[in-house]
Amino acid sequence: MDLIYNSTRDENVKVTAGKAILKGLCDDGGLFVPERLPKLGKSLRELADLDYRELAYEVMKEFITDFTEEELRNCIANAYDEKFDTPEIAPLTYAGGAYYLELFHGKTIAFKDMALSILPHLMITAARKNDIRDEIVILTATSGDTGKAALAGFADVEGTRIIVFYPKDGVSPVQKLQMVTEKGANTFVVGVDGNFDDCQSAVKKIFTDDEFNKKIGERGFRFSSANSINIGRLVPQIVYYVYAYTRLLANQEISEGDSINVVVPTGNFGNILAAYYAKNMGVPIKRLICASNENKVLFDFFRDGVYDRRREFILTSSPSMDILISSNLERLIYHISGNDPKATKAFMEKLSENGNYEITEAMRKNLSDFAGFFADEKETAAKIRSLYEDTGYIIDTHTAVAGSAYDKYLKATADTTATVIASTASPFKFAKSVMTAIDDKYRDRDDFELIDELSAKGNIEIPEAINEIRNADIKHKTVCRVDEIPSVVEAFLK
Ligand SMILES: *Cc1c(COP(=O)(O)O)cnc(C)c1O
Repeated sequence: MDLIYNSTRDENVKVTAGKAILKGLCDDGGLFVPERLPKLGKSLRELADLDYRELAYEVMKEFITDFTEEELRNCIANAYDEKFDTPEIAPLTYAGGAYYLELFHGKTIAFKDMALSILPHLMITAARKNDIRDEIVILTATSGDTGKAALAGFADVEGTRIIVFYPKDGVSPVQKLQMVTEKGANTFVVGVDGNFDDCQSAVKKIFTDDEFNKKIGERGFRFSSANSINIGRLVPQIVYYVYAYTRLLANQEISEGDSINVVVPTGNFGNILAAYYAKNMGVPIKRLICASNENKVLFDFFRDGVYDRRREFILTSSPSMDILISSNLERLIYHISGNDPKATKAFMEKLSENGNYEITEAMRKNLSDFAGFFADEKETAAKIRSLYEDTGYIIDTHTAVAGSAYDKYLKATADTTATVIASTASPFKFAKSVMTAIDDKYRDRDDFELIDELSAKGNIEIPEAINEIRNADIKHKTVCRVDEIPSVVEAFLK
């Protein structure tokens, strides 16, 4: 029997994993959730003998049951290969009292690669299985990291095309160069004269425009989304939490049965939700520590049981966490309500109508796995500096938010459980913020100037992703207005 996926807003929606991956979002606006959370099929001790790919299979097969073993193993083999600069894929580094789970060894040096390097393969496999002959067109709006990771994942994958819209003045110099130098022949990158919300709204409108979809359907195309709410992104992210635990076990850092804590720098709530699923699969995780930057909507939620997005949007040095609507939280709301689609739907409607909602006492009781902490800009910079001074290890700004949140957790609880911190980006991606945190004298230098300095200071090699863009040709020069987005898409799909 296949594991069936329902909508968080409607129990009558019933699809296989493959169909859920192809669709991304349910028609009713809900997210796909498995009807039950599966358990690991083998003991953690047995899993400790497996490498990343073998382990990925053991975890993912429990969620994606409609793929054959060969199909799923092929997807995994195509994703987690030499694109990663270490065969470990997600290595652990111990520094300053915690294990940093480095999720940035893929092509674009941020954790989005962990899921976006496999999503294209899951999608084309699902399409083939479901007799879909159309070419799949990924349409994405990005505020920075997702765009390049999606481009890298889908570049030259047969049967797919990808179009990325980014706010032309709203991404970092490294992020922009990463995108506009993309070489894939099936890729199209467009700067938009507007902000991220403008890009996002325009793209969402295209997804729900029946006439537009029909028109491109006649040309043999169908749209799909690489957004972080796609279960094809969520499931691969569970793997590295199981991997972290089994590595600690294999290296005798912990003993069988020991618990660990996990700290995750959080934006859209996808990464930490994957850790929650790993816990439900049987990984002994004691606490899931949700770390926020100054946009601390989730910290307030865990403290008060009230989600309230009506607040100022703050631009921070950890831009990938600058988010006021954490889309994946809907799945947690669904689970803590006892898988109640009616209740979930009502909360989400309140959120979109009033900008806030308050969960019930009973739901709050189901949140005891979580602890919320946050770090402001000063604390984030101080964490980068102190960890560097104490250990020589250099972390990026997002990871530093998590590191600082963990320090606060330790102070509040004195909990000495071994702790894994999800390290979500290479410091090279945010070189200026990182170097300025270490020493204010770097304040007036630009990102590219500081890369060599960072390499020398941290004694780390400059990643290929950075070298690549330093001398690469600009391939994508299209810029458009917000209202031109639909016609740009249409022109690309001739
Ligand atoms: C996307 C991102 C995050 C936030 O992850 P979510 O799954 O959205 O919570 C954190 N750090 C970095 C570097 C990211 O790119």
